[in-house]
Amino acid sequence: MPVRRRYSNATFTKRVDHQGGRHRPSRAISEPAVCKECGAVYAGRRWTAARSTSTKSQDEHLRPAEITLCPACKQQRTGEPCGFVFLDGDFFSSHAEEIEQLLRNEAKRAAEDNPLARAMEFKRGDGHKLTVSTTTEHLAQRLGHAVEKAFCGSVHYDFSHENKMARVSWRRD
Ligand SMILES: [Zn+2]
Repeated sequence: MPVRRRYSNATFTKRVDHQGGRHRPSRAISEPAVCKECGAVYAGRRWTAARSTSTKSQDEHLRPAEITLCPACKQQRTGEPCGFVFLDGDFFSSHAEEIEQLLRNEAKRAAEDNPLARAMEFKRGDGHKLTVSTTTEHLAQRLGHAVEKAFCGSVHYDFSHENKMARVSWRRD
């Protein structure tokens, strides 16, 4: 009688379909996860903006979400931006509130699309009329486009791909 290999029940019930992320670095977050600061949800290997309460409680019913800190909130704590927007020129002085509001609204919309893209700080008078720091290069670029589209002026994009940094300079005199 041939020797039959014994399989424990665990061998058969082991689910491999949820372990696609195993080869990733150990810092990979277990899913689902919720950011304790901003409520962003990590599932399907991506972060999405905080969802409505009803959807969220449904997910929590399926499996308790891990409480964590999303990369953007970590970045805000360490204060290490990936993008800057510098605003200068006389036009800024006479339209400061409008311009800043436009940038804040644009950043808010960007965060709805991608919760990791965020404006970190709006700083007046630090060598520029206004400096906006962002968590992503792309957001700095997007803010540059938005201010140029709304208020004309000229915009210059300076990317350093080595250290993943975007510096966007806008001015209108
Ligand atoms: Zn967060």
